[in-house]
Amino acid sequence: MQTDFLVIGSGIAGLTYALKTARHYPDKQVTVITKTQAEETNTKYAQGGIAGVWDEAKDSYEKHIEDTLIAGDGLCNEQVVNIVVKEGPERIREIIEYGARFDKDEQGAYSLGKEGGHSENRILHHKDVTGREIERALLDELSRTANISLINHCFVVDIITQHHLGYLVTKSTADITCYGVYVLNLHTNQIEKILARITLLATGGCGQAYRSTTNPRIATGDGIAMVYRAKGRIENMEFIQFHPTALFEPGVSPSFLITEAVRGDGAILRNRNGEAFMERYDARKDLAPRDIVARAIDSEMKTTGTEYVYLDCRHMDSEKFLQHFPNIYAKCKSMGIDVMENMIPVAPAAHYSCGGIKTDEWGRTSIRHLYACGECASTGLHGANRLASNSLLEAMVFGHRCYINSIESIQQIQTEPLIPDWKATGTSEPREMILITQSLKELQQIMSDYVGIVRTDVRLERAMKRLDLLYAETEELYRSTKVSPQLCELRNLITVGYLIVKGAQFRKESRGLHYNTDHRDKSAILQNTVL
Ligand SMILES: Cc1cc2nc3c(=O)[nH]c(=O)nc-3n(C[C@H](O)[C@H](O)[C@H](O)COP(=O)(O)OP(=O)(O)OC[C@H]3O[C@@H](n4cnc5c(N)ncnc54)[C@H](O)[C@@H]3O)c2cc1C
Repeated sequence: MQTDFLVIGSGIAGLTYALKTARHYPDKQVTVITKTQAEETNTKYAQGGIAGVWDEAKDSYEKHIEDTLIAGDGLCNEQVVNIVVKEGPERIREIIEYGARFDKDEQGAYSLGKEGGHSENRILHHKDVTGREIERALLDELSRTANISLINHCFVVDIITQHHLGYLVTKSTADITCYGVYVLNLHTNQIEKILARITLLATGGCGQAYRSTTNPRIATGDGIAMVYRAKGRIENMEFIQFHPTALFEPGVSPSFLITEAVRGDGAILRNRNGEAFMERYDARKDLAPRDIVARAIDSEMKTTGTEYVYLDCRHMDSEKFLQHFPNIYAKCKSMGIDVMENMIPVAPAAHYSCGGIKTDEWGRTSIRHLYACGECASTGLHGANRLASNSLLEAMVFGHRCYINSIESIQQIQTEPLIPDWKATGTSEPREMILITQSLKELQQIMSDYVGIVRTDVRLERAMKRLDLLYAETEELYRSTKVSPQLCELRNLITVGYLIVKGAQFRKESRGLHYNTDHRDKSAILQNTVL
């Protein structure tokens, strides 16, 4: 198969890009592929909303920029922060034009929420299911666009470069070029090639590397691992954001999120003794940035010997709570927790990857003709920690920027016709699925135990040794059995785990989301970790 623009991923990043590109070039073909169903994305699960400067009487670009820089703890790219904050409102207007509905107050103005780290109310939301509303609007718009083909159940295994033409490609090869991808077509169970003039990775995050995560099953870091295998550049993977308040429900994955907006509306964290502990950790109390709140909860859980703390909403206005958070209310109710009478048990869970595929301010990766945007990319916006609700914004702004750059550059690009078919000879059917599921559990355990909220040098070293073993076993399995999505995801998650540990080992300091008790201070040298 050949296409002009190949988009891998149907979340907010991929769809923003696909819609704009298809509209610009009605005579060219845009192909969007997803590994499961189109709507099954991290985007669908976003609750809190999109940050943007909307009420200019109270808010300003300067304040949003300042909040983003403070959260990023010295590692944000200021130029990129400026771009995202200033271009953001225009992109939000476009998504409203596509049909996304955000809540309004009685006067008909947008009702703006506040979350941790924000100095003003600037979060547009649709109740507590903002992502579902955005995904719906984008997919509706896509169905009205003739020159986009959407292919579900099509798993990308690897991006195609000169390596597949028989050339030696290393990290120092200057012009590594992407010609398209090999995919596992889950309808035929065959590996096929899709050749493209331009490829965009919008494959989302990697929360599934951890035992407890808010991310759905699809979030296995496939794009990040593929680029690393293709010798592209990956950045800042040590900065994994743990959401402080996932509902504590042992054995359930993904963990249900209790959005920060609940604390924005006045909910209070309490330990098992009922003490509101956040004031002991930070003057901003329950609305301190996520890393501080997550570490405070981690410390309270350790000192009180519990696996969770409580979120207390009992003093809040029940009518307003139901109006703003109907989904959370219903979920808690289904577990026998009436949030107006009982406190909610919560614990931190892996939530967001701040690092990823290194891109420039136009979403270009270090590989030619390959763009990346959304959670899989490291644009420089988040630095060492993401400000709440900045990720949907970033995905839209960079979806747009990738589109602007690639509609220009496609003029000079032809597809490469001589790509060989996938070599599958000599591989047997996988008989031992247990090996894959068991290795996945081991990986998640290693990452949660040794590479979580609080790290030490010894823990990181131990994690690396364990990952080495898992890597060797999984590569052997990959060589000898037929490719399956489960095996590819395991392989990708091991690579992601390696990148997180390697990044954490390089960073001999504590900064933003990376906290190592052997190096509690910040280093004077500001640098990104590029692998
Ligand atoms: C519970 C939850 C709540 C959140 N709340 C907020 C919030 O309030 N505000 C905010 O700004 N952010 C929030 N986030 C983060 C935000 O939702 C994500 O960062 C964002 O939606 C990512 O969008 P994306 O387009 O990059 O990727 P996704 O929406 O995750 O889409 C990834 C796509 O890539 C496809 N894909 C992946 N690998 C492959 C492969 N190998 N082959 C083919 N296709 C593949 C998937 O099928 C999917 O279509 C939240 C996240 C979660 C999990």
